Amino acid sequence: MKYQPIIGLEIHVQLNTKSKMFCSCSTDYFGKEPNTNTCPTCLGLPGALPAPPNKEAISKVIRTGLAFNCKIATKSKFDRKNYFYPDLPKGYQISQYDLPLCENGWSEIRVLDDKKKIRITRIHLEEDTGKTVYDEDSSLIDFNKSSIPLMEIVTEPDFEDSQEVLTFAKQLKSIVKSCNASDANMEKGHMRFELNISLKKPEEKDLPNYKVEVKNIGSISFLKKAIDYEIERQSKILDKHEIPVQETRGYKDSNGTTYSQRTKEEENDYRYFPEPDIPPLVIAKEYIEKLKKEIPELEYQKVDKYVEVVHLPLETAQRLSTSTSLSIFFDSIIAKTNDTEVVAESAKWLVGDIKRVLKSEGKSINDTKITPDSLIELISMLKSNKISGRIMKDVLEEAIKKDKDPIQTIKSKDLTQISDDKEIENLVNQVFVENPKLKDDLLKNPNSKGFVVGQVMKMTKGKANPKKVDEIIQKILED
Ligand code: ZN
Ligand code: MN
Repeated sequence: MKYQPIIGLEIHVQLNTKSKMFCSCSTDYFGKEPNTNTCPTCLGLPGALPAPPNKEAISKVIRTGLAFNCKIATKSKFDRKNYFYPDLPKGYQISQYDLPLCENGWSEIRVLDDKKKIRITRIHLEEDTGKTVYDEDSSLIDFNKSSIPLMEIVTEPDFEDSQEVLTFAKQLKSIVKSCNASDANMEKGHMRFELNISLKKPEEKDLPNYKVEVKNIGSISFLKKAIDYEIERQSKILDKHEIPVQETRGYKDSNGTTYSQRTKEEENDYRYFPEPDIPPLVIAKEYIEKLKKEIPELEYQKVDKYVEVVHLPLETAQRLSTSTSLSIFFDSIIAKTNDTEVVAESAKWLVGDIKRVLKSEGKSINDTKITPDSLIELISMLKSNKISGRIMKDVLEEAIKKDKDPIQTIKSKDLTQISDDKEIENLVNQVFVENPKLKDDLLKNPNSKGFVVGQVMKMTKGKANPKKVDEIIQKILED
């Protein structure tokens, strides 16, 4: 690699509170008539005062901070960040400056077979702006989104390639959902990313002496495009022995490129000062402890557990952990049996056929009659050749699609596998009687045994044990 990228992230996450940050207007604005979820406070009308900060929003940020191993402030406050923008009617945004709710955290991401620690600088709480809609010859402003609680997460420049950034962004998305902080719906703009990215020669120890910021990245896949584009653009400049301009760039998702917005000279001075209309926050240690208990096991922690304790392959562990219901189901299997083979096999069926059929039916495993006990029993039957893999697959599919108890289905339809030698021998002989030339053909070309196996399977509707059938054909031919 010619140059080593140094990347840091800033992520704005819209919280899923019921009401706005400093007024009681509803946050449920998606698809609503513009400017219907508003009041004098979130419209920034002169003289309107903020209500006490939304406690639900504060608890969501603290939970997220705890999930990122942050130090949680016991004393915090809000500050005014002054800048002018048409969809920011007050002329300032209420944000947090020197006393954010959460600081100095970290999260570990998996990089190939290794793990890497990403440091979190801070997580603070602020309010969202309105939305400007550009018409042909005018700009229209919708304030429904104005003052919805927004959480800003800032990382240290610890990422060295786009893959690490994507892994972290996905992990972050899953964490804010698990902490019930945000619905993290990308299509609805719940997460917005900003990058700072620069390049250095691999042998250089110090950070580069310039930094490029890229704003307005609306999805995880756009993040990768923006990073790849910047690496190429900055490499070309460095190749000419020049230094890329320190600037803020925008991202254009129509063609995956970035463009210059403003350079250092024009950079904003926000003139932060403490918000005079909101008293400082005092957060009790007991309250932080209570919030800590509300955080469920996180997706990456589940992956660690499945790989390190249960010894599942990484991909299986990841596919299981992305689904809350499947991982809870699997946890219950682990609690019920010590048979490592049954555990491994359950994981395989859960992320394989079961997950596939559930997805196509739009169901959760909890909507079906498949229970941890019945899956354990099915796998034992499979292992002891009482049922075939084919039958197992069919029964599970029927259980999901038609809401049938899989064990009952096996019993009532008599689907247990035929492994009895005499019975299979009779069936094979029947095939030979019906196809008189077959035996001679087989002696010349043993590879065509598959046809006989297929016929026997057809006669038994998939119930014959195919391995047994194969053995018995061999035995008859050798006689
Ligand atoms: Zn309002
Ligand atoms: Mn911000």
